[in-house]
Amino acid sequence: MAKYSIIVPAYNEEKSLRLFYEAVTPLMESTGETYEMIFINDGSTDKTQEILRGLAGADKRVKVCNFSRNFGQQAALLCGLEKASGDAVIAMDADLQDPPEVALQMIEKWKEGYEIVHGRRKKRTGETVFKKATAYLYYRFMRKITKMDVPKDVGDFKLYDRKVVNAILSMGEHDRLLRAQAAWVGFKQTFVEFERPERIAGETHYTLKKMVKLAEAGIFPNTDYTLTLPIKLGFFLSFISLACFIVFTVLACCGVAFGGLTAWLFPSIALAAGLILSCQGLANMHVNMIYKEVQNRPKYILSETYNFDE
Ligand code: UDP
Ligand code: MG
Repeated sequence: MAKYSIIVPAYNEEKSLRLFYEAVTPLMESTGETYEMIFINDGSTDKTQEILRGLAGADKRVKVCNFSRNFGQQAALLCGLEKASGDAVIAMDADLQDPPEVALQMIEKWKEGYEIVHGRRKKRTGETVFKKATAYLYYRFMRKITKMDVPKDVGDFKLYDRKVVNAILSMGEHDRLLRAQAAWVGFKQTFVEFERPERIAGETHYTLKKMVKLAEAGIFPNTDYTLTLPIKLGFFLSFISLACFIVFTVLACCGVAFGGLTAWLFPSIALAAGLILSCQGLANMHVNMIYKEVQNRPKYILSETYNFDE
């Protein structure tokens, strides 16, 4: 008999947690197999912890990890993968934007032999045009420069086989985008499609700053394009300046009166300085990531857990 682990990052989800529990429990019970539901309370400041303590007190299948502060959804997912003991692990959002019945379809695919089952969003309701447009552009850009087959229109709603979980846990990087790691490890992958509904309650926690951090974690650990780009730009600018130098010398030798050069001086210098600084910035991003690896701080800190003792 298989065992499933549902892992659920939760940050200030007091309004949705009970609804989530009530929706997912009967569905998982309908499989007739065993399961655990692991909630990772990512440093919530509302009643999330209290509610989770209540759920864990009444149902031993509910397990809870409380973080000492907000470490972010990716750290919460990592904690879930580390604590899960199931043969298959399903990651879901707490706000019921990942429809629970789709998790059953994922389990069917897993039984057919697939090792990663991605939830692919056919339609996303209740999300801003800005969020949809930036997500659309980002994934296409990331696929191009990392040359990784990160599936489009796919988030963290996925089923992972035990083998995949172990492979992902063997990857040590500090800044991580789980969906990029899932693409990197390989294995037999498939999709189930679903329409992403609006949040059941509360509001999104993804501020622009958090979205940018997530975007960086998908790109910088997965490419050297950003490190080689400065070399290409450097060669390009050197070539242009050499060509200008030759043209201007020839013009001067032929006695052609050539004016307007000074007008070009400022924009040219500004362009060169801008490119140099941007390239330096890209290298700094990598240095910062290396620094974090060397520091080797924990990716999250637990303050308390419920129902993990046995
Ligand atoms: N989340 C988290 N830590 C954070 C932000 C979000 O654990 O710092 C959780 C959140 O509680 C939810 C999931 O990650 O279960 C997705 O977050 P959200 O619904 O805010 O993102 P969106 O669906 O709007 O992209
Ligand atoms: Mg959501």
